[in-house]
Amino acid sequence: QKIIVVGAGILGASTAYQLSKRGAEVIIVDRKHKGQATDAAAGIICPWLSQRRNKAWYKLAKEGARFYPSLIAELEQSGETNTGYARVGALSIHKDSEKLLALEKRALTRREDAPELGDVTVLSPDETNALFPPLDAEYAAVHVTGAARVDGRALRDALLRTAQKNGAVLLYEEATLLHNGTRITGVRAGAETITADAVIVCAGAWASEILQPLGVQFKVTFQKGQIVHLEYSDLHTGNWPVVIPPNDQYLLAFDEQKMVIGATHENDVAGFDTRVTSGGLQEVFTKALDIAPRLADSTFVEARVGFRPFTPGFLPVFGPLPGWEGIFVANGLGASGLTMGPFIGDQMAKLALGLELDIQLEHYAVSGAIAAE
Ligand code: FAD
Repeated sequence: QKIIVVGAGILGASTAYQLSKRGAEVIIVDRKHKGQATDAAAGIICPWLSQRRNKAWYKLAKEGARFYPSLIAELEQSGETNTGYARVGALSIHKDSEKLLALEKRALTRREDAPELGDVTVLSPDETNALFPPLDAEYAAVHVTGAARVDGRALRDALLRTAQKNGAVLLYEEATLLHNGTRITGVRAGAETITADAVIVCAGAWASEILQPLGVQFKVTFQKGQIVHLEYSDLHTGNWPVVIPPNDQYLLAFDEQKMVIGATHENDVAGFDTRVTSGGLQEVFTKALDIAPRLADSTFVEARVGFRPFTPGFLPVFGPLPGWEGIFVANGLGASGLTMGPFIGDQMAKLALGLELDIQLEHYAVSGAIAAE
């Protein structure tokens, strides 16, 4: 089978890797848009504490987190040393002990069918501070040992490299779709015309542009996120857990004194505005320093900007494109794409190869993101 994957964010890279592993002939075409969500994202893999009640969404997030350890082991076996993933645990912090008990209860309930979330313990402020020293000393926490952090850029590159080792070809071009009647026959990528048995569109926030010439109005919106990288003078940051504060921000530590704080959630931006703004930085710094005052002495390294793609109802869609043959679409991973992307990519590969899926596709039908004519 010859399959083209359009987009090399976490979703396209995962799909391409899984296809190549199963012996398909794979061509990946990526336009490298500024603002690729995966390139900016440094993320948390900890879906179990989420208050969101949508079952179809939670299923993807839960399966996504569960999928990671075996994927990482596979990549390491293929020689990848930098996957960006580490199971460092998470601290969900709060000053209100009742809130912490409620969080602990939710985690314990969720553990019943997700044992991979690990041990759940309520920690005192001293115990919390010992695990993440820059934190304000008044925070206590619920500690969840199975949570992980991942650097989107590093994981994407590890997936793409491994896919290429398996024979996949990666082209950095803009893809447009080719069709014969209602059958997609391939893509034009730069000056090249490439035919294939199927095309899988993992185009994130830009997906409506590639589908529009088919007369398909694809309803993807996006949310801008600005995120900040710091250097913090402690040699042991590599083992520190992820910190999930009561507000909408988080703190992550990586190896070699690296820290990431963020991110903004901006819905009212005009177009693909990739600027790092003063207001964005102010929000990120104010919230982070309020939680972890000792970060005031850290070094500013860089700020990144990405566009989180959302489909209607904040629920991902994936599957065949209705009314067309030879094309599949996956999109709408929103704020949890690092968590879900590798799992959904595996499902997309199975779908394109005619293998049995591990999930009920009808909950995520692509028709849910297509505007009626
Ligand atoms: P993208 O990564 O945006 O990739 C789409 C790709 O398609 C781009 O490279 C683009 O150039 C390409 N493309 C589009 N059209 C074409 C075309 N016509 N031809 C060729 N190529 C094309 N998730 C978590 O789980 N946990 C987190 O903590 C977390 N934190 C985040 C923080 C920030 C600041 C941001 C921005 C996101 C965060 N996310 C997190 C969400 C996650 O990053 C996204 O959901 C995910 O990366 C989306 O992946 P994607 O592959 O669908 O899209």
